Amino acid sequence: MTVLWIGDVRSADIDTVGGKAASLGELTEAGLPVPPGFVVTAETYRTFLETTGIGSEIFDALAVDDDGLAEAAERARELVVETPVPEAVREEILAAYGDLGGLADTEPDDQSEPFVAVRSSATAEDLPDASFAGQYETILNVTEEDLLDRVKECWASLFSERAVHYRNTHGFDHDDVDVAVVVQQMVDADKSGVMFTRHPSTGDRQMIVESAWGLGEAVVSGMVSPDHYEIDPETATIVDSTIADKKQQMIKDPETGETALQPVGDERRTERVVTDAEIERLVELGRRVEDHYGEPQDVEWALVEGELFMLQSRPITTISEAGDSETVQETDATQGGDETAGRPGQTAVDGGGDQQVTEADADSETDDGVLVRGVSASPGTASGEVRLITKLDHLDQVTEGDVLVSTMTTPDMVPAMQRAAAIVTDEGGMTSHSAIVSREMGVPAIVGTRTATDVLKPGQQVTVDGEMGTVTEGGPEEDEAAAEEYDPVESVRPQTPVKPMTATEVKVNLSIPEAAERAAATGADGVGLLRMEHMVISLGKTPEQYIADHGENAFIDELVDGVRTVAEAFYPRPVRARTLDAPTDEFRDLQGGSDEPHEHNPMLGYRGIRRSLDKPAPFRCELRAFKRLFDAGYDNVELMLPLVNDAEDVERAKLLMEEVGIDPAKSRWGVMVETPASALLIEEIAAEGIDFVSFGTNDLTQYTLAVDRNNEHVVDRFDELHPGVLSLIETTIETCRELGVDTSICGQAASKSDMVDFLVEQGISSISANIDAVRDVQHEVKRVEQKLLLDSVR
Ligand code: PEP
Ligand code: MG
Repeated sequence: MTVLWIGDVRSADIDTVGGKAASLGELTEAGLPVPPGFVVTAETYRTFLETTGIGSEIFDALAVDDDGLAEAAERARELVVETPVPEAVREEILAAYGDLGGLADTEPDDQSEPFVAVRSSATAEDLPDASFAGQYETILNVTEEDLLDRVKECWASLFSERAVHYRNTHGFDHDDVDVAVVVQQMVDADKSGVMFTRHPSTGDRQMIVESAWGLGEAVVSGMVSPDHYEIDPETATIVDSTIADKKQQMIKDPETGETALQPVGDERRTERVVTDAEIERLVELGRRVEDHYGEPQDVEWALVEGELFMLQSRPITTISEAGDSETVQETDATQGGDETAGRPGQTAVDGGGDQQVTEADADSETDDGVLVRGVSASPGTASGEVRLITKLDHLDQVTEGDVLVSTMTTPDMVPAMQRAAAIVTDEGGMTSHSAIVSREMGVPAIVGTRTATDVLKPGQQVTVDGEMGTVTEGGPEEDEAAAEEYDPVESVRPQTPVKPMTATEVKVNLSIPEAAERAAATGADGVGLLRMEHMVISLGKTPEQYIADHGENAFIDELVDGVRTVAEAFYPRPVRARTLDAPTDEFRDLQGGSDEPHEHNPMLGYRGIRRSLDKPAPFRCELRAFKRLFDAGYDNVELMLPLVNDAEDVERAKLLMEEVGIDPAKSRWGVMVETPASALLIEEIAAEGIDFVSFGTNDLTQYTLAVDRNNEHVVDRFDELHPGVLSLIETTIETCRELGVDTSICGQAASKSDMVDFLVEQGISSISANIDAVRDVQHEVKRVEQKLLLDSVR
């Protein structure tokens, strides 16, 4: 069959019509409001390749190594786009389009020529573990004239450089993936968005709706910050909401028929997009979709002059096992006829109640002048104007001296963080990205406030006290008295340039190469941890994407540059550079980030050595960067592997090192001890020939105590000095001393005096602290060493 009507396809047809079309067919069958359309089947694509003879040419061309990939992919796309579609196929597609014109009802003036959306529906797209989503073309507002060309563009998008590279690195055969194309009546939305029928991370019975003006593409692609509503599905009312400033909308240009981003009129920018009545209809729709699939769904929807349409539905994959089981129980209760079972105390409230709830909370917090409280992440006090950052493209709004307020910072925000006078985030704990980077840059910061982005208003003058963990109303004038209290402390600090001499080395942690000079000026004995993730993430692309776009050498060059800056600033002091350890959520907002797996808890997921061993291509590039540095004479560079569990992880990494020409016997290399397994199995790990281990107490604590280091709800349970953690450290140091392996610490706890005392007593070889803590740690180490000496002679 060349084409099939959406209403006639089902899940079982996925091989013929792809995941997207199969899902639309299911929803149509269930009586849900899906715009009409048809599918140009995968078989049609396949026949096109075979009858025209271009298939073998394409697949032969793609059998190249990475260097020739860009050219081969371009050739493949050219062949698809330039080869005419066989006449019979053409006629069938155009006939179906003609029939669709008869069905169309949103273009009353021009029924014979409806505008359609042409969307790729790859046959492997929505399969588990093959997240191709978003890689293939979708073209909006197409008419008869361009239809065939647009269908071919969808076919050709199977050979975009990114898609080809993705299949290469994930072991998919190019010849095994087919693409169907959905041709669907265009929904000229005046409002649109997404809906999660359950809370996407907890699985709670709470619906989340996000919406903006115009076509949904703007919301899905992140071009526009949408309104956010949290809805009680029992009462179909909003319980919490954030109304965004929607500066732009995507609409069809009435003259050209093309889709374009246009500014939203001032009066509608901060207006709530969906009405209470529309919320009720969305809740009803969500309930029907969820009933149909029997599991929580993530739905794309659109409203056209009050008529609600569904454009897509996918299962929510981020809900945890725990969330699932809770969901099951509640569903059972609901089936028992008691809709409110499991939700004691919940009563129907008026839809306007949401705003009052938020404001009441905010008011109660202002009693003592403190607007928000959080975890003190980086010391110091600063005043400035609040800048609320919700999207990366708002970063340039942060100017010198502003207070950056955000849900959570990401590595892309580093330049803006550097400009900020202080940083305040809703989420995160002491070892979150915001906390680590702020400390490194010496910017006062408070994390885990939960409400800062709600309570603090753009432009408001506030004072952030990084030690007290408070944000208070008021600017520099009001803060003068406080400033006077702080200044004298600086002036009484001893200004001695003499570095305390210690037997235990005191090193410094570093993430941003630009801070190398500052770090070297501390007099530290070297860098105990140079994190590479910030160098990579600041490229704006995932490693895979960067390599696909610019080639392996360009990626290696970037890493070499970053590490060399630090190695030079410290030479001949050692610099321990760690291979990549970014959790997938840190990659999500980068180009190529949509390929990252959605993980419920990225901290327990695809990061560190697991990702490196699973995806050896980018890891090999990292290793080749080390090799280049070694060859260039940087003999102070040491290589460290993150998140290893056992000797097998280390052995596999060592083989890859050897493969790129690094001789492990001639370079200094080692591993992080960050999991209880690695501490317990240290003897076998040491037998791989490592020179050192370094305790990553941020992770070792979270994995020993089962306390998510980024979860502000359990921040008081995050205790690096817990006897469980100390016991693992103690036995590891003991074993390593016997085996002649150096020991070190590079987690945040290295800056705590109790930990320093404990480690020096245990005989650790070095301690690596944050820039701001190096001098204090040097003194503390010296004090403990002297005490130990005295004790031994007393
Ligand atoms: C740690 O886990 O303590 C550590 C230093 O590594 P990171 O914080 O980068 O996970
Ligand atoms: Mg770690």
